Amino acid sequence: MTVYANPGTPNAVITFNHKYDNFIGGKYVAPSSGEYFENITPVTGQVFCEIARGNAKDVDMAVAAGWKAFETWGKTSATERAIILNKIADRMEANLELLAVAETWDNGKPVRETMAADIPLAIDHFRYFAGAIRAQEGGISELDHNTVAYHFHEPLGVVGQIIPWNFPILMAVWKLAPALAAGNCIVLKPAEQTPASIHVLLDLIKDLIPDGVLNIVNGFGIEAGAPLASHNNIRKIAFTGETTTGRLIMQYASENLIPVTLELGGKSPNIFFEDVAAQKDAYYEKAQEGFTMFALNQGEVCTCPSRALIQGSIYDGFMADALPRVGKIIQGNPLDTNTMIGAQASNDQLEKILSYIDIGKAEGAKVLIGGERADLGGELSGGYYVQPTVFEGKNSMRIFQEEIFGPVVSVTSFKDYDDAISIANDTLYGLGAGVWSRTGDIAYRAGRAIEAGRVWTNTYHQYPAHAAFGGYKQSGIGRENHKMMLDHYQQTKNLLVSYAEGPMGFF
Ligand code: NAD
Repeated sequence: MTVYANPGTPNAVITFNHKYDNFIGGKYVAPSSGEYFENITPVTGQVFCEIARGNAKDVDMAVAAGWKAFETWGKTSATERAIILNKIADRMEANLELLAVAETWDNGKPVRETMAADIPLAIDHFRYFAGAIRAQEGGISELDHNTVAYHFHEPLGVVGQIIPWNFPILMAVWKLAPALAAGNCIVLKPAEQTPASIHVLLDLIKDLIPDGVLNIVNGFGIEAGAPLASHNNIRKIAFTGETTTGRLIMQYASENLIPVTLELGGKSPNIFFEDVAAQKDAYYEKAQEGFTMFALNQGEVCTCPSRALIQGSIYDGFMADALPRVGKIIQGNPLDTNTMIGAQASNDQLEKILSYIDIGKAEGAKVLIGGERADLGGELSGGYYVQPTVFEGKNSMRIFQEEIFGPVVSVTSFKDYDDAISIANDTLYGLGAGVWSRTGDIAYRAGRAIEAGRVWTNTYHQYPAHAAFGGYKQSGIGRENHKMMLDHYQQTKNLLVSYAEGPMGFF
């Protein structure tokens, strides 16, 4: 067991700067407004650095720097870019602890997750796209003996990327790696709640990337995000965040007719069929753990299994085993490697979750465990902690229909297969789902019948770089991860060439 020292204190693995500027054209640049805002750690609720408050002028400068860099970067070979991506991965790997602690301090998530999941996944993402871009092939079609169609992949140019606060580094890297691999230049806007860890990553890797290829403009959604998404000189906008913001992003992009990818909210069903409880063996233990996955990352995951559907015939026994397991989730200092659930990312998010807990109680849902803010004492008293909470209720309730984005699961029972699918699909969203069954036939049919882009079968919350991720319905447009994502960052150039010497014959 290790308890990392708070950043900036003796023996700490990291000391943050007091202030982070925008990063434009390979240099830190003060915001044109001259203003900064305070960045708080959710671990203790204390301010730990100041961040540039970017605006439209800063976005203009960053887009211009991107186009300047694109003149060269857009013509680099896939091999050259792959080498850079691999070097970034190596640099991150050599600084795993530093990045993990930075991410934990900025976001509040437990360091055991940032060490074992967030940062290793981000590293692998760079390596995956370094390989994918080199393996990508163009196409040649022989139209007739003398005519050939060549197909080339070309980068788009300067692209905008806007990310949320729940996985600051990983969400940034999900967008950066494929965009860089494909030869684009980037203007990235981090979430205002968690901008600092991305700057720690930037400090580590900035010497590896040519000036202007990666630009970062910090700031708030309306002041920096909207000018970026509506900029008339970007060639694509990629966004991860709330569904309501996603609608706005699409409107902005429509003015400039640029492509959009949206990774939005979810209300994912996690379905447990009765054969799960046929024996109390290792598989049953795994399914029980699958239920508890709602608390991973404090429930601040777009695919949080926030609706658990349990077949009526096993409901009582399954819940009798599940609740003590939830009771044993260790909540504590996120910098302690024993801690399983840390702090919510911001005070606003804490209050939103607590208000949904009140809504659930007022709707008549029953709290089976949790249901309160957690006061962990000492310096953590000022942090944003919520007890893992299990509600029992009906799928028509707001706590089953609206995204809470906290460690809260709403549980209900179902009669048979058709009932399970009908409840699972009774939602506006379609991002993730879990299916638990020992019977391949049931698991396969359910997986195909659920309207969601990612259905985990007998597992949950795995995010390998080579599996496509994205939403059905109001959970988004487009996919991330997997080499198919390169399509979102490239356009196709077709050269149609005639080698015939004679006339075409029309005039
Ligand atoms: P949010 O939409 O409020 O903010 C996300 C980002 O958009 C931030 O950087 C913010 O500054 C910016 N933004 C806000 N308003 C904007 C505007 N008008 N124009 C341009 N940019 C604007 O979302 P959030 O609360 O930060 O993130 C949580 C949400 O993200 C949840 O709904 C969650 O489900 C979703 N999410 C989805 C995925 C996915 O892959 N589908 C992954 C993570 C999070």
